[in-house]
Amino acid sequence: MLWSSPRLRRPRNIEIQQRVAEARRQTPESEAWLRLLEAALAESEDGAVWDAAVATPAAERPVKAPLLARARFAVGGRDAQDWVRSLVNLAGAANGAGRRLDGLALLEAAVCQDDARVDALAGAEGAGAGAPVLRVVGQMAALPLLQACARKLEQELPATWWEGYCPLCGAWPVLAEYSGLERQRQLRCGRCGTGWAIPSLRCVFCDETHHDHLGYLTPEASDQMRKIEICNTCHGYLKALTTIRPLAPWAVLLDDLMTVHLDVAALERGYHRPEGPAYALEAQVAAA
Ligand SMILES: [Zn+2]
Ligand SMILES: [Zn+2]
Repeated sequence: MLWSSPRLRRPRNIEIQQRVAEARRQTPESEAWLRLLEAALAESEDGAVWDAAVATPAAERPVKAPLLARARFAVGGRDAQDWVRSLVNLAGAANGAGRRLDGLALLEAAVCQDDARVDALAGAEGAGAGAPVLRVVGQMAALPLLQACARKLEQELPATWWEGYCPLCGAWPVLAEYSGLERQRQLRCGRCGTGWAIPSLRCVFCDETHHDHLGYLTPEASDQMRKIEICNTCHGYLKALTTIRPLAPWAVLLDDLMTVHLDVAALERGYHRPEGPAYALEAQVAAA
């Protein structure tokens, strides 16, 4: 039984339950991801452990560094281990797998988006999961911590932020959102859920501003609310959505998961998303 771990439960928020159920119907092929995301969203609701682990932003951060650069997190060590290992089990590894996985190390690597380090952890004896699975597990494991940071540090974010990457956690955005009457372009982070405004005619990845090099793909004539922003200078792409209200932080990654067909459309046309983090955080995660 996959949900046998006492650590794991399903979200209480009715809206989350409904959206996850809808995602299950629409994209049954994403079930493995959805199961992990669902557990991460539930864990995030019960965020006391993670709220307590929110780091004070480092005083000496380089210019243009996200708020969490060089942050030092102190997480309840036992809680972190239980959480990460139960996710490894939920990912389909044999029961008891991941018993020797260093959960804190995985959290740290995931927060820093250090894929090479995640792969090294997967290669260690007793890790319980291979590199591709552990990358996903790490990403989901870090979600409650990053979303707790977004909730608690919102007031400390710079009033204006001109970079293409998340002002809190340094990830590339997964979505450009145009909401309300003003339709201002708001970039959204799929990890912490933070949103930040940035002018429309500018590539978030390479800062290209010449309109001749920027454009859109509209793969679905039936869905006027969605398009894909593309840059012909760096060949990057970003999914875009017009909404009445901005998505809740928990909904950003779910929306990303439900629109994989748009990623496929962009990839087929030769566009891609950059690999690795936009900004290497160099954060540390240790036992409290
Ligand atoms: Zn972020
Ligand atoms: Zn570009």
